[in-house]
Amino acid sequence: ELNEYPVPEGKPAFGPDGRKIIYDEDGKPCRTCNSLLNFRMATAKEIPKGSKSASSSVGTIAATSMAALASKPVAKDCPPDVEELGRSTWTFLHSVAAMYPEHPTDDQQQELKTFMVIFSKIYPCWFCAKGFQKFMKKNEPKVTNQEEFGRWLCDAHNAVNEKLGKPKFDCNLWKKRWKDGWDD
Ligand code: FAD
Repeated sequence: ELNEYPVPEGKPAFGPDGRKIIYDEDGKPCRTCNSLLNFRMATAKEIPKGSKSASSSVGTIAATSMAALASKPVAKDCPPDVEELGRSTWTFLHSVAAMYPEHPTDDQQQELKTFMVIFSKIYPCWFCAKGFQKFMKKNEPKVTNQEEFGRWLCDAHNAVNEKLGKPKFDCNLWKKRWKDGWDD
């Protein structure tokens, strides 16, 4: 439905976290669309020694192999996986909402609308971008003022949370989380 590409032969369909592994058009696993662990599993050249089995076509891999992949150290300057990219992007987007004027001009409203449309097209996890475009088709960004946009964005983020099985965030708190800070 989201234009996923087929799982290449001999490659796993699911990662250890139970999520589908997303492959690019050329059959390579998409780094920005998968968690680091899933990406490592999909790119593993060989199953680390000590593991008993790895039925890669159905996506199962021995627990010992997983442990080995999961415990591989991660350099600080590695390209982002889907989670790091997501966290950084949400921080950016909610901060945009926090700094958006309470009384934006027509031009500012138009700029934000245009930005969100372009954002949804160029977001580097293309798989996520497709989902977000779909959300935006049904739920046009509300840009009339800061509060409206902050809440719209909170709802958009919650739609992704829901898709990923994460708890919903209480949107009454968006401004405390992203602008004013928590009460002491
Ligand atoms: P994040 O979801 O990144 O949230 C960061 C912080 O924001 C949280 O710690 C919390 O304090 C706060 N927060 C949480 N929810 C809300 C909310 N509703 N409103 C305001 N603040 C909130 N990942 C996928 O695997 N598949 C996808 O299809 C996918 N689509 C994405 C689409 C977009 C546009 C973006 C930006 C990211 C997408 N992601 C996707 C990444 C995913 O949303 C998370 O960023 C990632 O899983 C890391 O999650 P996290 O638990 O660290 O917290």
